[in-house]
Amino acid sequence: MRQYEDTYQHKGMRRRLVNELKEKGITDERVLDAINTVPRHFFLDSAFDKIAYEDRAFPIGEGQTISQPYTVAYQTQLLQIKKLDKVLEIGTGSVYQATILAELGAWVYTIERQKKLYEKNKQFLFKSKYPNLKFFYGDGFEGLQPYAPFDKIIITAAAPFIPPKLVAQLKVGGYMVIPVDEGENQRMLRLEKLADGTLREEAFEQFSFVPMLTGKND
Ligand code: SAH
Repeated sequence: MRQYEDTYQHKGMRRRLVNELKEKGITDERVLDAINTVPRHFFLDSAFDKIAYEDRAFPIGEGQTISQPYTVAYQTQLLQIKKLDKVLEIGTGSVYQATILAELGAWVYTIERQKKLYEKNKQFLFKSKYPNLKFFYGDGFEGLQPYAPFDKIIITAAAPFIPPKLVAQLKVGGYMVIPVDEGENQRMLRLEKLADGTLREEAFEQFSFVPMLTGKND
């Protein structure tokens, strides 16, 4: 069984990462605190121990990646999480982003389409620290109708378009943060659902995500 240890060295590297994120423009102190609290190296294979706090994406198996810390901080900041917000995440991957949301006090419902990653995450012991984090195996394009509506929705893969079912499952006044394909890269959008059901759109920086794919993969 893998031992999880959070040493002074890890904590020091994490503080340096937080400073780097500040320099890159992340301003939300609660988001920075969450990144300072959650040991990112727990979410990676032990081979990445020494580099887990570099501001980079890393492979996590099944051709997928753990998002770059800057991207996690950026999306989380745009979501403006409040305690007890009900948040839907598409693309559980390593569980790192979901844990940052849970650390901020949200109720997190995260969906993964890769069976192997979903199964691996069920074994992940650190998650027991977060009873407010729930895992689902399924296709994110479908959302999670039984638990809708959500205060916030975050998509952590490159979306070919804005999935209509996710819009339907968002509360009025709620935010969806979604990277939408623009050829090579994706434009980060924040969509607010208005009372008449339409969306108010704000566009932010460009990012590069793995694709959001349809259907489950077992
Ligand atoms: N949030 C993750 C990022 C993982 S990368 C983290 O913090 O590590 C994106 C993930 O989205 C991959 O695991 C991929 O399998 C998953 N994914 C892609 N399309 C999906 C879909 N339609 N539904 C659910 N998950 C999907």
